[in-house]
Amino acid sequence: MFRKILIANRGEIACRIIRTARRMGVATVAVHSDADRAALHVEMADEAIRIGPAEAAKSYLNIPVIIEAARASGAEAVHPGYGFLSENPDFVEAVEAAGLVFIGPSAGAIRAMGLKDAAKALMEKAGVPVVPGYHGEGQEAAFLAGEAEAIGYPVLIKARAGGGGKGMRRVERSADFAAALESARREAESAFGDGRVLVEKYMAKPRHIEVQVFGDRHGNVVHLFERDCSLQRRHQKVIEEAPAPGMTEEMRAAMGAAAVRAAAAIGYSGAGTVEFIVDVSEGLRQDRFYFMEMNTRLQVEHPVTEAITGLDLVEWQLRVAAGEPLPKRQEELAIDGWAFEARLYAENPARDFLPATGRLSAFDMPDVLDQAGGARVDSGVRAGDLVTPYYDPMIAKVITHGRTRGEALAKLETALEQCRVGGVTINAGFLARLCRLPAFADGDVDTGLIGRAGEGVLADPEPSEEAFALAALCALGFLAAPADADPWGHIRGFRLWGDATRTVFLDHGGTEHALRVATSGMDRFRITHDGVATDIHVQSTDGRSVRADFDGHTLPAKVHRDGADIVVFFGGHSHAFALAEAAGHHGEAAAGGDRLTAPMPGLVRIVSAEPGARVAKGDALVTMEAMKMELVLAAPRDGVVAAVPVAVGDQVAEGALLVSLEPEEAA
Ligand code: ADP
Ligand code: ADP
Ligand code: MG
Repeated sequence: MFRKILIANRGEIACRIIRTARRMGVATVAVHSDADRAALHVEMADEAIRIGPAEAAKSYLNIPVIIEAARASGAEAVHPGYGFLSENPDFVEAVEAAGLVFIGPSAGAIRAMGLKDAAKALMEKAGVPVVPGYHGEGQEAAFLAGEAEAIGYPVLIKARAGGGGKGMRRVERSADFAAALESARREAESAFGDGRVLVEKYMAKPRHIEVQVFGDRHGNVVHLFERDCSLQRRHQKVIEEAPAPGMTEEMRAAMGAAAVRAAAAIGYSGAGTVEFIVDVSEGLRQDRFYFMEMNTRLQVEHPVTEAITGLDLVEWQLRVAAGEPLPKRQEELAIDGWAFEARLYAENPARDFLPATGRLSAFDMPDVLDQAGGARVDSGVRAGDLVTPYYDPMIAKVITHGRTRGEALAKLETALEQCRVGGVTINAGFLARLCRLPAFADGDVDTGLIGRAGEGVLADPEPSEEAFALAALCALGFLAAPADADPWGHIRGFRLWGDATRTVFLDHGGTEHALRVATSGMDRFRITHDGVATDIHVQSTDGRSVRADFDGHTLPAKVHRDGADIVVFFGGHSHAFALAEAAGHHGEAAAGGDRLTAPMPGLVRIVSAEPGARVAKGDALVTMEAMKMELVLAAPRDGVVAAVPVAVGDQVAEGALLVSLEPEEAA
């Protein structure tokens, strides 16, 4: 086994690899950009080496600097994690040329599967069924439109170098093809440096079922069963599970055999995933699964496979890379129970999954696995860390395991309700609501499930009166820990007997709320909001965890205060408030107004607005690129463009003015 390895990655995956290496007695070297100087993976590793500025292209994607770091540290092998350089054959060659071991497949195997079009052609030859469509050389817009016509709408345009759901556009009708092609190409060009695409038949009711495979350097290949990753948004996985609901032994064997065939065809070694799309318009059928692509690396969702097999896939990766044979044979592998993984992203589901940035003023995760009913949390951040726009917005993963699917799902829902994050918008509430969708609970999944679930699942519900009451008390300091208060100790309400009412103004989601707080006894308050009175008796508080009695019903809550920002976690929901005098800083004021501003730092890609032009509400005015995604920013109302102070190629800060409209009267 290696004595020391370098991890060419960051975030949760770097931390997760360090944990296994440590358990195996392998020393670790982290690399980091300037933005990650104090990151968790740097703190956890035995050694850490700076590799460049914040931009990934100059740090985590900088091959010569990473190779030099490996050499300087005396590491014997390099683990690429996922994303970044994990599927870059040039990196594999550079690692090997430096006399080091790449913890992953050969450069040749990565090349064979690197481009979706070539991979499909290869798989067709190996007798693996592939998705119908065009995956040839022709790239002329008119030619591809003809192919789309021949395939039949709806079609899916895919970047051949694509990954992470990027560079993909679903097209419903021929009139939309040209624009979709252009936008897919642009995204692919900027994300992968390759604008070439393939066109596929868009499956009517698709399920994403993938098979984990593992090969060693002695010609053995096994599969570790399937994962269902059908719960997706924007073609990106949100919640994954293993095994797949409704899977029969027969179909599992057929898919497993096809996946092993795919891996064997390219002499695969290490961890890999063969992704299939399954047309379930007539149920889960053995003759309806098609090869989509092979990911020649460890996958984000590998923990669900670990949970049902009891194995550590990173340990397997290290053993195989060190030349050992696979630790188990196919017949020694079995499925135990059911597992789920939910991906926690810094993003706002209610605003079209807009990535969020900022400082994590609170980051409390659920109980760890070894406590009964707990969850495994793989995270790359801690309270106080900055979520920057430079890297992927995924900040943690929550994994649960149960004897049955129902048990594992119930644990996941509970665990997600316990994810308490302040300072940065995250998708935990959205994920918890997904757990409660009846179709999901029944295992009736397909990739359109989230889309059909509607608005209700995207937006956090309005705070209840109890939540408003807690926010108001928190704003006035009545929920501070007794020790932090004055000598009157816990009798907080009492000292207010003199001037017993105060009004506090709180902003929630852009609306200002006036809350009148009156003391009605020791630790007892009456909060009036829009004419509705809520009585609350604070039974205990330590400044974070609160127990409060509402009309004879005692309930737990958590509150978090950071300057003017208040977050209340109550009844399974989290609600963010801001003291109203500070609310103007929140940038949402532009909605419906005269100004279109950048919702986050990014690069201006397209400017469609021109001074003097008349625009209608919802017209696309500026397209920005931020956090590896295209954001289309639309006119907040009907009007006439007054000024466009930005140009294509400008790097803009959060809140920067992009377009202003003439004042309403003039329009
Ligand atoms: P990526 O490399 O971005 O992961 P994939 O080819 O694996 O790209 O596709 C990502 C997702 O897009 C799939 O999981 C599936 O939900 C959807 N998808 C891909 N191909 C099709 C198709 N032909 N029809 C319907 N949905 C598809
Ligand atoms: P798929 O491409 O099929 O969605 P995964 O589910 O394994 O495959 O997702 C891999 C993607 O996850 C990468 O393309 C990357 O965008 C994203 N990602 C999340 N966290 C990280 C990280 N710490 N480093 C690199 N990439 C990450
Ligand atoms: Mg994929």
